[in-house]
Amino acid sequence: MKVPFSYQTLLRAYPDRESAIAFYKKHHTTYCPDCNEVLHNPLRKTDPLLLRCPDCGRTASIFTGTIFQGTRADIRYWLYIGCLFYYCKQHLQQIPDRRLLSIQSIKRAIGATSDQTISRIYKTLKKLFESTEIDDINFCKLIFKPFLEELCPQGLLLTHTGEIR
Ligand SMILES: [Zn+2]
Repeated sequence: MKVPFSYQTLLRAYPDRESAIAFYKKHHTTYCPDCNEVLHNPLRKTDPLLLRCPDCGRTASIFTGTIFQGTRADIRYWLYIGCLFYYCKQHLQQIPDRRLLSIQSIKRAIGATSDQTISRIYKTLKKLFESTEIDDINFCKLIFKPFLEELCPQGLLLTHTGEIR
């Protein structure tokens, strides 16, 4: 089988990390850990990840409490691999195992990146997509559903009968 979108498609839509982070911020709301205020304003102009609470001054990362917490990898790797999982789960009705979608094939699709990075992202996302916790299911829908829809028009998804290589 073949997935109906490529990493190159993603790079055309999101040519830098900042544009991918902007997508994430559009779909994921960060709250102040102290006063629960919705956070919008970055602490520093140069760092889109850290937001500052206008009320109490506390800072929070947009990744806190999510699977992205503590990651130093390009968020576009996460979004691409998450999108593959979402596609397989929704449209092929299965979580890809390594025979269907291997870490090696993802590495090839993305280009030169460490095995360790891709393997860690793959395992974390596999666990997320296999989870039956409502928060995990909602997170997948919130982030990877709209991302997949942007990468791949709905009509194409429905008619696609290719193979994942
Ligand atoms: Zn606050």
